Amino acid sequence: MTTDCEPMGKKILRSVFKQSWYGFTALLFPRICLICERRIDGGDNPVCPQCWNGLRRLSPEIIHSKQPENGSLDTIYPVFEFNDAVQTIIHGLKYSGFKSLGIKLGRLMTSFIPADFFCADTVLIPIPLHPIKFRERGYNQSSLLARGIAEKTGLVVREDILHRVKNTVTQTHLDAQERLLNMERAFAISRRGDYASLSSIVLVDDVFTTGATIGTAAAALKATGVAAVRGLTAAAPM
Ligand SMILES: [Zn+2]
Repeated sequence: MTTDCEPMGKKILRSVFKQSWYGFTALLFPRICLICERRIDGGDNPVCPQCWNGLRRLSPEIIHSKQPENGSLDTIYPVFEFNDAVQTIIHGLKYSGFKSLGIKLGRLMTSFIPADFFCADTVLIPIPLHPIKFRERGYNQSSLLARGIAEKTGLVVREDILHRVKNTVTQTHLDAQERLLNMERAFAISRRGDYASLSSIVLVDDVFTTGATIGTAAAALKATGVAAVRGLTAAAPM
């Protein structure tokens, strides 16, 4: 019998290898910050404290300008300016296997989110990857952000409700209309569960650009009767 899925042992081995590689090379070579290329002493994080501290928060005016005027997403809160430093962190998180960047970024985001953004019963839902992309990457970068936020807030992360059922193409070179088309029917809701009892959902993603991804996910959740769906992203372009 043949199977088209990757054997579990191979997946675990690859994940362990990715995680161990940075630690292994750090024994041989001094760690260098991905952003400023200064030497980093200690820790398993490939970005130095100065660079973390130098991330620029988006101004209230810019955040205000990003608010959805219609659609299913109630509000959006992007935390940092999508500049070269943030781009380097997100690239390292998504494409170089630096999972620790996601948790650290999630923790840091939490320090700048207004206290009234969350309710006591808010549920965090990371924007899911399609299973094919998840298999390639070995993890979901938005889940790591959500884990960092959950660590700081004590909120619950749910990854059993929202699913990505369409393996969408990368949106980098698409305009707003093309992004919406690309995301059409991209998400589905798990059939099990009483979702109407969820009164407050916060979707977590890495970057907010046109809102096509997070808006489409919000629409899928609102269709189940959820009252409030808000979005929280690490960054947005100015
Ligand atoms: Zn640095």
